[in-house]
Amino acid sequence: MFKRILVGVDGSEHGYKAAQVAGELARHMEADLWVVVSFEEVPRYLGDSHLQGVITARIREAHEILRRAQEIIGAIPGTLTPEVLEGPPAEAILTAADARGVDLIVMGTRGLGRLAGLLLGSQSQKVAAHAKCPVLLVR
Ligand code: ATP
Ligand code: MG
Repeated sequence: MFKRILVGVDGSEHGYKAAQVAGELARHMEADLWVVVSFEEVPRYLGDSHLQGVITARIREAHEILRRAQEIIGAIPGTLTPEVLEGPPAEAILTAADARGVDLIVMGTRGLGRLAGLLLGSQSQKVAAHAKCPVLLVR
């Protein structure tokens, strides 16, 4: 049913759980899977010398999150593509989903946000509201 799945990970347990579920789905459906992490733009006020260091650190962290997610996903029959995106996560995920012609987006209900009482994070809420394809929110 689903042939092109995209999952967002942010380094949180919820995100890794979403990756695990997306991996299971990709195996069962023989789907291709994109695993993406988006890092926020670095504020300009940091100044040029500082800026490059911060960007490098964020990209390194993003790759580490992707490495862990791929480990959790394991082997799938289709193609597994890790991608680092830039910008606010929901917008980046929606744009990537469109560009890749994805037919299912998988995310956690929560992420790294610290608001303990929150039932649904703002990024999953935005994606669920605006995506053109079905969205699976993993608890
Ligand atoms: P908030 O960010 O609104 O304070 P939160 O961090 O608890 O709350 P979300 O950010 O909406 O909740 O996270 C929900 C899910 O969205 C995560 O489990 C993950 O699947 C996805 N997600 C969040 N941030 C990113 C990101 N930077 N890159 C890729 N996916 C992300
Ligand atoms: Mg968040």
